Amino acid sequence: MKICDEKSKLIQRYEAAARAYAASIRELQEGLPKLDYERSFLATEEARYTSELARAALLQHIRHHHC
Ligand SMILES: [Zn+2]
Repeated sequence: MKICDEKSKLIQRYEAAARAYAASIRELQEGLPKLDYERSFLATEEARYTSELARAALLQHIRHHHC
């Protein structure tokens, strides 16, 4: 069975967002100076939020589309 186009788009978006979030966390672990740390921390929180939205959109699609 062919994977639904919309679903594969949502999966790609989620994967990209999750990768960006993981990269952001790695940056935080590198021991940045305080100011940079605070900026990176906010960026990480935003990346986390973005990946959560992407995940929610994917789950919602699966639930409604049964694909
Ligand atoms: Zn679908």
